[in-house]
Amino acid sequence: MKAVAVFPGSRQVTIIEQEDPLIARPDQVLLRMLDIGICGTDKEICTFEYGTPPPGDDYLVIGHEALAEVTHVGSAVERLRPGDLVVPSVRRPCPHPGCLACRSGHQDYCYTGDFRERGIKEAHGYMAEYVVDRERNLNLVPPDLREIAVLAEPLTIAEKALGQISWMMQQRPPWTDPQTPPEERGQGLSALVLGIGPVGLLGAMALVSAGFTTYVYSRETPPHPRIDLVAAIGATYVSSQAATFADLAEQMGNIDLTYEAVGHSHFALEALQVLGINGIFVLTGVPGMQAFIEADPARLMRDMVLKNQVLLGTVNAGPDDFTAALRNLHVFRHRWPEAVQTLIAGRHPPEQAPELILGRPTGIKTVIAF
Ligand SMILES: [Zn+2]
Ligand SMILES: [Zn+2]
Repeated sequence: MKAVAVFPGSRQVTIIEQEDPLIARPDQVLLRMLDIGICGTDKEICTFEYGTPPPGDDYLVIGHEALAEVTHVGSAVERLRPGDLVVPSVRRPCPHPGCLACRSGHQDYCYTGDFRERGIKEAHGYMAEYVVDRERNLNLVPPDLREIAVLAEPLTIAEKALGQISWMMQQRPPWTDPQTPPEERGQGLSALVLGIGPVGLLGAMALVSAGFTTYVYSRETPPHPRIDLVAAIGATYVSSQAATFADLAEQMGNIDLTYEAVGHSHFALEALQVLGINGIFVLTGVPGMQAFIEADPARLMRDMVLKNQVLLGTVNAGPDDFTAALRNLHVFRHRWPEAVQTLIAGRHPPEQAPELILGRPTGIKTVIAF
């Protein structure tokens, strides 16, 4: 079978031929891969900034945002049947008995760093015709989400953040009642999304769905299909070329929540300076090598203390976040059927993967389809 692999030693990204994988344990499932999304992490792996092959291999099969069809199940598989659609999770637990996070099924909070991630760190990914995985790593997808379920994994970033925020919002002003339905949690609150990449746009959709008055701030200027999407979901787009952070803060009023999805340190720092009273600032971007910047930590500390602010970093996602993402994709599809159509820029054969990963992104989410 075909797979798309990166060879860090010889600095190559190429299609390889591999043996078809086989079910080796009773709790395993054989998957035929349908859609694999390409994201910034794949680009970093394919430019050799990031990514580690499994021990003993000189290559890593990439791909971590996936949708697959179950073709065979092991004898101990209970929930899944051939024909089911699934979205696999990415991170696998570390082996340490003392890691409370991994031992309780929350490897997204792993303490040791010795976790593996499929398609990223020490485990082959999903950009292959067939893949074997354990049932417990697979999230069942309703058939009507076939066209967009490949977006579930990038949406889990926002879902994990929202899950954390919802919990915090019960303890902080305006003291959200835990019984509040998910679509009303952000009512009366303002949210600022930084960046209009897929993580930012999906985050904006999740925030609008949660009732926040949502602004999206990024460098791009209209006309731009991503800016059109922001408008289509009822959020307000402001370009950094047209308005400063101070202008934005004036327009928004108290910024209750900032969702950073750029991974640019200077941009994030400037945004932190306009975070509102009792505001929560969520960081999801991972900056690469960037120039040193001047900062005023005393001012930041003063602001954070005097304004009761929270700074929250979040990575990866747990099973509940996948469930929430699939639920929300359903909501998005019903609420914004046309906008959702534009999220997937195109489906391409695996042979085009290297150039698509290394080229400039064109639409919103580029997908490799086997
Ligand atoms: Zn990704
Ligand atoms: Zn761990």
